[in-house]
Amino acid sequence: RQETLAKLIHQSTMTRDGRHVELAANIGNPSDAESAISHGAEAIGLFRTEFLYMGRDDFPSEEEQFASYKSVLETMGNKPVIIRTLDIGGDKELPYLNLPEELNPFLGYRAIRLCLDQTELFKTQLRALLRSSAYGNLRIMYPMIATLDELRKANQVLSEVKQELVDKNISFNHEVQVGIMIEVPAAALVADQLAKHVDFFSIGTNDLIQYTMAADRMNPQVSYLYDPFNPSLLRLIQMVIIAAHREGKWVGMCGEMAGEKLAIPILLGLGLDEFSMGASSILQARHLIKQLDSQKMAKIAEHVLTLSSGQEIKDYIQQEVMR
Ligand code: PEP
Ligand code: MG
Repeated sequence: RQETLAKLIHQSTMTRDGRHVELAANIGNPSDAESAISHGAEAIGLFRTEFLYMGRDDFPSEEEQFASYKSVLETMGNKPVIIRTLDIGGDKELPYLNLPEELNPFLGYRAIRLCLDQTELFKTQLRALLRSSAYGNLRIMYPMIATLDELRKANQVLSEVKQELVDKNISFNHEVQVGIMIEVPAAALVADQLAKHVDFFSIGTNDLIQYTMAADRMNPQVSYLYDPFNPSLLRLIQMVIIAAHREGKWVGMCGEMAGEKLAIPILLGLGLDEFSMGASSILQARHLIKQLDSQKMAKIAEHVLTLSSGQEIKDYIQQEVMR
């Protein structure tokens, strides 16, 4: 079994009927990039940059950030690397930001909300990111976008930073792809509008589930609601993929769901283009996807969307696909 999987390390990920999907790794540290490659990652689908900001007394400098981003890009060669801008707040605190305590941190001042308010902090990160884009295949991603207005504002800050770099003759990739996480239900519902202003979406199911179900992702007492197979969630995912594809944009997923054995056939059938997961799940996922027929999975997914509970859906996949 280990040996069969090892053979898949340098292969691309093709379904039986020849559809290519990209299997990417989620990382939280530049040093994880090596291991992503040795586990067969075709890309980095999510580089969480919070580590740079956490466990210290002050903000990381532009140079420090630049060095981290550049190192991941260089390790990955020409493979795509999606770096997510600061997603602090919620469960991730930064003492030196001196933020007032909030009653509902997950519904509060976090991620892109904070970055659009504290634009110097955001600009420093964007400058470091753009400068690093000269060293590999960078893609920039904003977390927690809820409205088109937020996306426009973030893109406005990005274009200001680009102009500053141009004025200073600092080189960067002018065509760098920019995408957003879809992890707030409001964003999923207007995905058709958002899709016109991005290069890609990446569905963040960890948060999308909690916000859709109104169930804290860390509270075991409501974990029965925290289910990626819930029909509500699957409908949102379907909407997002359809909306993106209509605009000719690609869609990935970087929440835990992307690496779940029973979810992969459904996501494939819904047309997901990229699956990003913990590196150790990649070869298993590739092994599974190579056995699946994407046309058949489209029919399976169509049926799944008529079912009315997560359990029913899991049982159906188990029976129809995994036997
Ligand atoms: C998500 O919300 O699905 C996600 C990938 O981001 P994080 O787990 O960092 O919130
Ligand atoms: Mg999230």
